[in-house]
Amino acid sequence: MQQIPHQEISARWVLTMCGELLENGVVEIHEGRITNVRPARPGEELLELGEVALIPGLVNTHTHLEFSTLVQPIEAPSFTDWIRQLVSYRSEHLATSEQRRAAIRQGIAESISSGVTTIGEIASDSQSSQAYASLPAPSVVMREVIGTAAADEQDRLAMVEQFHSTVPTDASWRPAISPHAPYTVRCSLLQQLVEFSTQHQLLSAMHLAESTDELQLLEHGDGPLRELLTELDAWHEDATDPGFGLSGYLDSLCQGPWSLVIHGNYLDPSHWQQLAEHRDRVSLVYCPRTHSHFGHPGYRLAERLAAGVRVVLGTDSRASSPDLDLLADVREAAQCHPQVSPDQILAMATREGAEALGLGDEVGQLTAGRCANMTVIAADFSTHKEVAAAICAPASRVVGVMVAGHWLRQLA
Ligand SMILES: [Zn+2]
Repeated sequence: MQQIPHQEISARWVLTMCGELLENGVVEIHEGRITNVRPARPGEELLELGEVALIPGLVNTHTHLEFSTLVQPIEAPSFTDWIRQLVSYRSEHLATSEQRRAAIRQGIAESISSGVTTIGEIASDSQSSQAYASLPAPSVVMREVIGTAAADEQDRLAMVEQFHSTVPTDASWRPAISPHAPYTVRCSLLQQLVEFSTQHQLLSAMHLAESTDELQLLEHGDGPLRELLTELDAWHEDATDPGFGLSGYLDSLCQGPWSLVIHGNYLDPSHWQQLAEHRDRVSLVYCPRTHSHFGHPGYRLAERLAAGVRVVLGTDSRASSPDLDLLADVREAAQCHPQVSPDQILAMATREGAEALGLGDEVGQLTAGRCANMTVIAADFSTHKEVAAAICAPASRVVGVMVAGHWLRQLA
């Protein structure tokens, strides 16, 4: 794609997400980076986008793109049954790396067309890595690690080492690791992965306190997840130390250089306190429509934010979300949590999400020096007092997407 060296783009609203809202604002871009954000001057010639809002490109901090060809989320009577069906879907429809790569590419295209310009992706295998070449920059690919047997440990560490050392030099993404969940990663392996992430200064992301089935396994060593692991020949009595528990997993993640705690639906206020104390390095990922899909109790977003936790947004995969449209999750969050300001919800989908992925210096705000990654939103601005409220309301839609100064989705 041809690089347009210098562009000046104006919109009725420019919401920088670093404290400024400009009416009739202009974003100046030079060689893919923002060089200035300012009010329009009378009579100047600009690329005028019209009655829309220009915001930083949306940051989806949590996806599993290999499930992007699912046409609708998997419905199951319980969380464990949902995993059981997911495992069988994967072995039926995603058995080859070609199938997985095709699904990942489809998911990237869908994400971009819905205004997402930075993705926090979890990769379940290394053969699919070449599909990530089309990720918008900058993104993060976290190599998933699953291992419940003591004999797995060396192999899994070698795998992450290999993944980390073979990232293409021109990749649009940074490597990270994702110890999957407490029921699939033995605690001794998690501790070694945290050491690895510290040594290489990598982000770690783990699903934690996601379901009551998980809590039952951690607290009592039994329940539906133990049955499933036994069926899969992955149950090892010594994988979880009864003294380690949920707090042990959370403590380990707080020891790493940067971590994402994914979901955390069943964390209690003492855990929020711990997350708040580490908020510069540890963030909590909330996936609103996925949360609703599983029918978990209310997320208590306002209280978590008030406690000082950095909460960011994700869609999760199409196995639990109808699509990869993060703006729909913004709207869902606004609807479920009217006590949280629209501005704060938008920050979770932009600035805070970028910070959580360790990309805060690159994206997440419209300000000089950041990448020119922007999303153009049409909304019913006339009936809402605030621009952010209009963006969080049901009528909003993405009409244009720019990454590094290129329109990847032309204005529609
Ligand atoms: Zn997930």
